[in-house]
Amino acid sequence: MSFSSFKLHPQIAAGVKALGYQIPTPIQIQAIPPVLSGKDVMGLAQTGTGKTAAFVLPILQHLLPGTCGKVRSLIIAPTRELAEQIHVSIGKLGRNTHLTSCTIYGGVSVNPQVLKLRAGVDIVVACPGRLLDHINQGTINLANLEVLVLDEADRMFDMGFLPDIRRIIKQLPRKRQTLMFSATMADSIRKLTDEVLNNPVTVKVGHTAPAGTVSHALYPVAQHLKTGLLMELLKQTDTESILIFTRTKHRAKRIGQELQKAGYKAASLQGNLSQNKRQDALDGFRNGSYQILVATDIAARGIDVLSISHVINYDMPDTTDAYTHRIGRTGRAAKTGDAFTFVSPEDEPQVKSIERVLNGKIERRLLNGFDYTKPAPARDIEFARSPRPPQRPGNKPKPKQTGVHTDGGRKSGADSARPVHNGAFGCKAAKSASSERQPNRNRTSKSPMR
Ligand code: AMP
Repeated sequence: MSFSSFKLHPQIAAGVKALGYQIPTPIQIQAIPPVLSGKDVMGLAQTGTGKTAAFVLPILQHLLPGTCGKVRSLIIAPTRELAEQIHVSIGKLGRNTHLTSCTIYGGVSVNPQVLKLRAGVDIVVACPGRLLDHINQGTINLANLEVLVLDEADRMFDMGFLPDIRRIIKQLPRKRQTLMFSATMADSIRKLTDEVLNNPVTVKVGHTAPAGTVSHALYPVAQHLKTGLLMELLKQTDTESILIFTRTKHRAKRIGQELQKAGYKAASLQGNLSQNKRQDALDGFRNGSYQILVATDIAARGIDVLSISHVINYDMPDTTDAYTHRIGRTGRAAKTGDAFTFVSPEDEPQVKSIERVLNGKIERRLLNGFDYTKPAPARDIEFARSPRPPQRPGNKPKPKQTGVHTDGGRKSGADSARPVHNGAFGCKAAKSASSERQPNRNRTSKSPMR
């Protein structure tokens, strides 16, 4: 099957071609036709499957003939990084069209967003909190909305955004097309589907398991030996770009520093960095000037780098979903990748859950030549123990702990809106804040903008 079978407008097909997409991915094959025909769609697809283009292409096709400058499509995403990523995809795929998009999220000044909305925009990519603020302040007009997308709905649910989503949906025209994407079909998501989708077509790619293009290995190791093992593993492994995940911001910073000391071109990406440094780390990782990026989960959803050859979980993620999303950074769109996870004895319950999702045992590896017998230091020094106790099954991870940037931070910066026809992403990507919000806060309807 080729993209030509979707009969996309030549201006949109040109965007697909410019991105070098030759054949549609399975989620695109399944989702694009029903979305193009105007149906509501529930897409069960994890990150890395090409799901963004699966909804962006039909949206562009749908909006192209209409009147420009009114918000006709709204895409809601859980994190600023994901919102920016979608916005950039719209820019690339729609580069030859006259359609415009902008992002809306907290942690950055509201005024540029108000100005962009006032100037007129066709597609808004928003995080729930700030969007609700705009709705309450009357600075966004959604009366002309035709297509709503809820992306990573399971994540939004986990992060406590469901009440916000319900409030937002109440403000939208009833007659609209609604698309929902989620990596999992938990009961909560099924319920939301029943509430907001009208007679949907369900499309499913794989299921909740991580991308099949990734091979997985566990490295059992004591906490105090993890950094040594990492260094040895890097020495012995043929790698391109490597993304290393830690559980805390402090660990990400310290391991980034250790790697730099050891001579690696490495950077860390975590919520305590200034915005400039975050951008520098991301840009440097994208353009190859950093080979290694050490990150908290903040990076799990916002990094779109096709050549990540290895994801290394220095610390075991809290949930199987977090595992899926972390390792979804490698093996993207038909490439292959390796996911290495360091496991300590306390991680065993989590290993079992991941193996259940993968439907098989993950290979345990010992690294040849590495001294596993080195005793733990007498004193309880840095990294000699787990940063915090593992989550019990059923406990939801708290957003504040995941390091994911939701939309309520307080630092300054600017989001972006630009015409997508010239291919120039005039605005800088992801000017998100370093502080993190608790999304479950209560709101009053005329609260000041966050
Ligand atoms: P997503 O799951 O939307 O985050 O997409 C994952 C990656 O796959 C992104 O880098 C996309 O640019 C890329 N991609 C999406 N569709 C295709 C395609 N049909 N062929 C090749 N790459 C694609």
